[in-house]
Amino acid sequence: MSGNITLTMIKPDAVRNNHIGGILKMINEAGFRIVAMKYTKLSSEKAGEFYAVHKERPFYGELVEFMSSGPIVAAILEKKNAVEDFRTLIGATNPANAADGTIRKMYATSLGENAVHGSDSDENANLESDFHFSKVERF
Ligand code: ATP
Ligand code: MG
Repeated sequence: MSGNITLTMIKPDAVRNNHIGGILKMINEAGFRIVAMKYTKLSSEKAGEFYAVHKERPFYGELVEFMSSGPIVAAILEKKNAVEDFRTLIGATNPANAADGTIRKMYATSLGENAVHGSDSDENANLESDFHFSKVERF
C-alpha cells in the first residue's frame, strides 16, 4: 500500500465555514478512496506534535493555535500516486497562488488558514496516518 495513501485534514477554518461537504465531494470526484475518517479536535499539544517539523519557523505558534482552534476532519485517502496527486488537488500553500479548480482556490481564506492539509511524502503519509488512526480504524 506504500505510495498509495496520503493523510488529509480539513482544517478548522473550512469546518467553521461549512465546507466539509464541498471538500469531500472534490476528494471523491478526484478518485480518492476513503480508508479512514474522523471528526475530531487537536489539543495544542497534539497540533504542536503534528507540525513539529515547523517548530523553528516564525509561524509555528500561530499554526499550532489555529490547528487547535476548532474541530477538524482527518482522513486517510487511497489512490495511485496519492501524495503527489492530492498536493495537485489541494493547490499551493498560499491560496493567492493556488490554481483554478483546486481545493485551496475554492475554500481557503489565507496562507495561515488554508482549508486543508496534505502529506508531503510517502514517509510522512504513513507517519501522519499512524498519528491519527489505529489499524482497526482503517477499511
Ligand atoms: P500543510 O502541511 O498544512 O499541508 P503545506 O505543506 O502546503 O501545508 P507547509 O510549508 O507544510 O505547507 O506549512 C504548513 C502550514 O503552515 C501551511 O499550510 C500554512 O497553514 C502554515 N504556514 C506556512 N507558511 C506560513 C507563513 N509564512 N505564515 C503563516 N502560516 C504559514
Ligand atoms: Mg506541509
